[in-house]
Amino acid sequence: MAYSTKTDEKWQKKWEETGLYKFDRNNIDKKLYCLEMFSYPSGANLHVGHWYNYGLTDSWARLKRMQGWNVFHPQGFDAFGLPAENYAIKTGIHPRDSTYSNIRTMEEQLRKMGATFDWDYEVITCDPGYYKWTQWIFLQLFKHGLAYRKKAPVNWCPSCKTVLANEQVVDGACERCKNEVTKKDLTQWFFKITEYARELLDCLPQLDWPEKTKKIQQNWIGRSEGAEIVFEGADGSFSFKVFTTRADTLYGVTYVVLAPENELVDKITTPECRDAVEQYREQAKKQSEIERLSTVREKTGVFTGAYAINPANGDKVPIWIADYVLAGYGTGCVMAVPAHDERDYEFATKFNLPIKRVIKGEEGVDDTLPFVEDGILVDSAEFSGMGSAQARLEIVGKLSKQGKGELKVNYRLRDWLVSRQCYWGAPIPIIHCEECGAVPVPEKDLPVELPYNVEFTPDGESPLAKCEEYINTTCPKCGKPAKRDPDTLDTFVCSSWYFLRYPD
Ligand SMILES: [Zn+2]
Ligand SMILES: [Zn+2]
Repeated sequence: MAYSTKTDEKWQKKWEETGLYKFDRNNIDKKLYCLEMFSYPSGANLHVGHWYNYGLTDSWARLKRMQGWNVFHPQGFDAFGLPAENYAIKTGIHPRDSTYSNIRTMEEQLRKMGATFDWDYEVITCDPGYYKWTQWIFLQLFKHGLAYRKKAPVNWCPSCKTVLANEQVVDGACERCKNEVTKKDLTQWFFKITEYARELLDCLPQLDWPEKTKKIQQNWIGRSEGAEIVFEGADGSFSFKVFTTRADTLYGVTYVVLAPENELVDKITTPECRDAVEQYREQAKKQSEIERLSTVREKTGVFTGAYAINPANGDKVPIWIADYVLAGYGTGCVMAVPAHDERDYEFATKFNLPIKRVIKGEEGVDDTLPFVEDGILVDSAEFSGMGSAQARLEIVGKLSKQGKGELKVNYRLRDWLVSRQCYWGAPIPIIHCEECGAVPVPEKDLPVELPYNVEFTPDGESPLAKCEEYINTTCPKCGKPAKRDPDTLDTFVCSSWYFLRYPD
């Protein structure tokens, strides 16, 4: 008989009947856990990329089985997320219906591929039996202060009245309606992943990952050793901290820059500068972070009219705002040393701000400005003649005695914003009570089930907020009427832990 899909069918039936690929729980001496990334059932069918992904690991799992390993090779679907919701908005088909119908098709296709998955252990992340544990994890983090709420700016489409992810903003415009996107402050849930920045970095070398991936991870966490330095306002009415890795250049600071969103800006801007500052802040709201951090984009900024005092030499330096400084990074304030930083040099040249050299190159080094390497200090009072590395410690040492500076390690990593004003996700298991504040749903009441009858057409409010029978509840603490949290969790919260779903 020539090979055909009939051959596949014959053997697949046999495998099915004999339970050939079932994991044997009782024989765990030579066990092996083989897990791949689950599919997103956002399209109606699998595409060739799925098999490109699964084919290799499936072959490997087969090999291991032939070598006598008891292979645990489950499969599942990472099933929450925006694509299903957007599809629903477009077609009117409920996300749950479209998702489960896609899952049925994809399961069938995966079986026909002849893969060695053990379907007894199928995991579907939008099943209440799964997200019960997503919610349980949320509660553990909440109890330990690792899930918390704060205000954060989000991309906002004033026309669709909805929050957009960075990927949904195309050239500053809304992907759905093409209108201009702006920023809006919303109270959001965060996971405090920054608590683990150090640990994540320290454990990286032990991982069996490609070096390139480790490097990306390392840059993403972005550890930098430096100092936090206090600048006082020239009128003595305010102060702020800057983080710098180049305290050795402190004597060369000729201006400082605040993020446009920095709360100080309102307070310190002088009446003559207010119009320009307000206008600039409006503009800045429309830029994405990626645009703001781009090194090729021309730098923009405006003067606030206020001055700060350089703590090293008492110089009065102007305070500007510029969108290349982000409120969420470091302190949201930077000291500018145009002689020794390319970005500051470009900015100072454009706006005619003073450029003051305080580092010269060692013998034979080309130190044309901007000179960004370490070197020998000049024009830096008692530190002149010292090398950069030593000066960094000694300058901060002197400042720390005056309470104006300390050595500090900074990370680029920021906390994970996990709440979404969307429908198709795991509900956040928190109840808001006027008396008791944010109260966790008792574990015995999990899962908090996602209701089916919800109006999810975007209008700026979380869809669940409009579902009366869902949102209204009683406070688990005091028994008074209270409201459930209207947001759902980022789909990546569900994706981040399914490898742990099998112990029970
Ligand atoms: Zn829009
Ligand atoms: Zn209460």
